Amino acid sequence: MYRDIKNTHSEWRHFIYNEVEYLLNREMKDLPVVRKPTESMIAKYQHMIIPKEGKGIEEVMDLLHNEVLNYNYRSNHPRAFSFIPGPASQLSWLTDLLTSAHNIHASNFANAPLPITIEHRLIHYLSEKIGFDPTLSGGVFVSGGSMATLTAITAGRDAMIPLSRMAEATVYLTAQAHFSVAKAFHIAGFAQTQLRYIPTDDLYTMDVNALEHQIELDIANGYRPIMIVATTGTTNTGAIDDLSNITRIARQHRMWVHADGAFGLSHIFTEEGKQLLKDIDKVDSVTWDAHKLLFQTYSCAMVIVKNKNHLLSTYGVEAEYLDDITSTNENIDPEKLGMELTRPPRGLKLWVTLQVLGEDEIKRRIEYGQKMACYVEQQVQQMANWKIVTVPQLSIINIRYEHPDKTPEENDKVMQYAASRIAQSGYAAAYTTELNHRRVIRFCTIHPETTTADIDGTLQRLNTYVQEA
Ligand SMILES: *Cc1c(COP(=O)(O)O)cnc(C)c1O
Repeated sequence: MYRDIKNTHSEWRHFIYNEVEYLLNREMKDLPVVRKPTESMIAKYQHMIIPKEGKGIEEVMDLLHNEVLNYNYRSNHPRAFSFIPGPASQLSWLTDLLTSAHNIHASNFANAPLPITIEHRLIHYLSEKIGFDPTLSGGVFVSGGSMATLTAITAGRDAMIPLSRMAEATVYLTAQAHFSVAKAFHIAGFAQTQLRYIPTDDLYTMDVNALEHQIELDIANGYRPIMIVATTGTTNTGAIDDLSNITRIARQHRMWVHADGAFGLSHIFTEEGKQLLKDIDKVDSVTWDAHKLLFQTYSCAMVIVKNKNHLLSTYGVEAEYLDDITSTNENIDPEKLGMELTRPPRGLKLWVTLQVLGEDEIKRRIEYGQKMACYVEQQVQQMANWKIVTVPQLSIINIRYEHPDKTPEENDKVMQYAASRIAQSGYAAAYTTELNHRRVIRFCTIHPETTTADIDGTLQRLNTYVQEA
């Protein structure tokens, strides 16, 4: 940052202090969860030109303060139940301010030795949580789950098949996998016809018998099955694919297993989560978002592979780096482990958060989310014509209202009506998703400050809206 505006030090301080004061003093729970700009407000920005001569900073900051930053979905709101990218710790935000102000270029070790040491140390720590051998494993902080999955899938592809034989490859996933997985396969050069969508069972997890059968069929037809993407916490229901059987099948056929645990993996901090995520140590790579259940601001995620050489051989273009393949070298340049050259040290904010709050507090917050999902379940069980569609898992629950005199299609419309009414009211956001071709309302209860009163208020309102429909 260089001094490029005329304002004095004290004016600059005034901007920052005022803004921080405002942010610290506002009561999030008294604000609407969703605030949409008017058409004319959108039009104003569509038509706003870049001036030949600059304006006063006050004028532009006012626009930011009053409009640009204020008419959005507030994912930090304790009644924002609709998406998993969730609430961020103030510590994460504070570290963002500082790393951004220092404008740290964390591409290689020489430029940012301590931030990169910290990032590697964190990857080491998280590898141990997974059960990977941290002297062999490695990874890098990336922008999000989508980027983590793309980074891993591309490295896995290179480990399994030469590019010249790509056309023979087949890969396996389910329809419950996040759409970023199919996107990653597309970017990594797989045709749609090379993707095998394995059916899911009643619990929305991959049917492993169907998986095994499909792999054998493909081999018989001359294909080379190379990769299975397991979802460890689906976006819709929190379902976790059967890692024991999936990794067993993969071993038999020498395939790569990637686990998309974007939000689900954070539950490994809890005892219950550890049980649910049994055999996660047997996969080859994982996607893990810190901007979901580790309470970080966007964007902060990790790709971690069991053997870091796979990242180095795909992304470390300089051959001499492969000399280090057996080393436990903690100084590896992040640019050799992923796609980005210029990057901020995204791991720093997670480190600050963990240092200040401690692991027990993180664990407590994650457990609290699951407890709140169980509270939703208890309450909904007492509400007439409402049913639990999927039970609380990894802090997600799906519910549905079914009026006996209405058709399923009519009840679908009722669900959508109730969801849009509550969002319009600003009180809460709880949107619908589709399960088994029916609309359901999905609650992600991951905010550490959501109270039972917040849930009661939301359910009462939803119940009023469904009667109204
Ligand atoms: C959120 C999510 C993603 C996408 O992550 P982004 O950080 O939004 O790119 C991928 N997979 C699962 C299971 C998710 O929940």
